[in-house]
Amino acid sequence: MAYQLGAGSLRELQGVKPQLVAVVQRAITLTTQDFSITDGLRTPAEQAELMRRGATRTLDSKHLTGDAVDAVPYINGRPRWEWPPTYPVAAAFRAAAVELGVRLRWGGVWDRSLNDLPATAEELEAAVQAYVTRRKRAGQKSVFIDGPHFELSAA
Ligand SMILES: [Zn+2]
Repeated sequence: MAYQLGAGSLRELQGVKPQLVAVVQRAITLTTQDFSITDGLRTPAEQAELMRRGATRTLDSKHLTGDAVDAVPYINGRPRWEWPPTYPVAAAFRAAAVELGVRLRWGGVWDRSLNDLPATAEELEAAVQAYVTRRKRAGQKSVFIDGPHFELSAA
């Protein structure tokens, strides 16, 4: 195993808050699924473009302040965004965050702290399903989930 961050990931981490960078650096040593940081700090223009394309629902993103990263599974030499390999990446971020005492929120389950979610990839997959069910029961028609997204949170 023993993955390490590539040059592209390190470039994207420039301007990201040090405690979040520390989580990423720990997570890459723990993960069973390689990942690449495809986005860290964003400019307002980049955020507006993502909004236009429907890739985000906010202009007030944590990416604008260096409080968020997107970690995409790295498969066969390139980042590949799909759900199944995202769960072990999230499990590694959770383990790193708990170990370092950094509170994180994950785009798979927006209404809980990642630190308080269960530890395994399988349990995290179930937690995402439970989140979607919870939001739909609350009357939300389309539930936005963002598996690669991790951000610093107060709670
Ligand atoms: Zn993001």
